[in-house]
Amino acid sequence: MENLILKNGFVVDPINNVLGIHDLGIYKGKIDSIKENIDPSSSSEVINLNGKIVMPGHIDTHAHLSSIGGDTWGEDRSFGHKMIAESGTTTVLDLAGNPLLMIEGMKKRGAGLNVACITGLQPGTTIPSEEPKINEIRDVVYKEKKNGAIGLKIVGGYHPFSSEITSDIIFQANNQQAWIALHVGTKDAGSNILGLRDVPEITDKGRLHVAHINSYARGLINTVEEESNEALNLINKMRNQWVTEAYLAEINGTNGLCNEDGDLVFNVAINCMTTRGYEPNENGIRNALLDGYGSALVMKKGRMILVYGEDAVEIWESNLTNQALCFPVNSPVSAFMLTTSKYPEGEFIIDAISTDGGALPRNVAIEKTMSLVNFGALSLDEAVMKLSYNPSRMLGLENRGHFTEGAEADITIVDQNIGKAVMSFVKGKMIMKDGKSLMNGGNWLILSEGKELAEKSGLPYEILDLSKSKLYL
Ligand SMILES: [Zn+2]
Repeated sequence: MENLILKNGFVVDPINNVLGIHDLGIYKGKIDSIKENIDPSSSSEVINLNGKIVMPGHIDTHAHLSSIGGDTWGEDRSFGHKMIAESGTTTVLDLAGNPLLMIEGMKKRGAGLNVACITGLQPGTTIPSEEPKINEIRDVVYKEKKNGAIGLKIVGGYHPFSSEITSDIIFQANNQQAWIALHVGTKDAGSNILGLRDVPEITDKGRLHVAHINSYARGLINTVEEESNEALNLINKMRNQWVTEAYLAEINGTNGLCNEDGDLVFNVAINCMTTRGYEPNENGIRNALLDGYGSALVMKKGRMILVYGEDAVEIWESNLTNQALCFPVNSPVSAFMLTTSKYPEGEFIIDAISTDGGALPRNVAIEKTMSLVNFGALSLDEAVMKLSYNPSRMLGLENRGHFTEGAEADITIVDQNIGKAVMSFVKGKMIMKDGKSLMNGGNWLILSEGKELAEKSGLPYEILDLSKSKLYL
């Protein structure tokens, strides 16, 4: 007896060597069976997926569903739940925000996703200062686990620490087996390939999630090809210590905040200007927006969208320059190289394809990956490895990323004619159909330290064991 049968879909499950038309039986939210034919009368609900691809749900190891303190970006990232669910993703690592804000957002605007959150380190907000003492860092790690985060992110492109402090934070997070991610950048090096060059030494003997590798291969120092190759070589060197992802959207996300002198405050925004020959100040931003190079992120009808030209300038000015902006600075060349490159024995060098989306309207991981499949650069099996299985290993989600009997019935259905996800399920419940989010709330992924708070939240939760994650294996 099944609760749900997904019939006649083209099932792609490389871990179980399934590649072809099969039926998938789901019982109590778990995968019950994959067979060439399951008797439809054995279930009250049968969905015919003739012509559709059925794959383990996309696990996004880098997206944004909350803000660190809610004070810097002037936006509510909880809209990201619906936005990312509508692209077919089923599990998200919120990288990074604030677990207490994430959970409020999930209650208000959730979309039925599995969500883990890590806390972004902002001096004065989530960590005492730019020069925290060892015991202060240790306490932050512990406190954030209690708050329901699975770890921390060092946001080097926005709130950089010295190399030494960055190292100390990694060491303290490792010590408590908390997730630790780095957006490259320190007081000494930028958020680019030069910054990435320093990260092996900063990592020392530790473990680290190096976020959005594509962001350091934008051709600021050398060519995009040279920087992509260098990034891949650095990852190869740190193969047993780093986990990595890259996203495939052309647009980035940054902030146009300027200081009293009219100069841009954030390293990432400065890079966006200089890479196209604009001044790294108010004039540069204004011209870049008027030229249509940049866009401003605004909320409309419960989603975040991009606006261009004079409208964008008006919004940026009305927010006194403290406004989320996007620039098309990611090269498709680096996206292609970073996504498809493998070690000689066939394993991908970069573990996973992420969105860096959520509340940023660039949740294109699935559709861009499908375009690489259509192009012949990835097989369907490889697409599933990068979208689902590898990220499940990264996070230690042993019951996800495959359709083994007893695995969670987290499923993404893709219509290859349009190259997009058209349906998705979390624990056997449909959360999206035809690009519309159908579910509220969500499933909070925490560490055991967060249990007390998760109980109080009243939301369903699941305890992760990071000793099983690739970060700590
Ligand atoms: Zn990000």
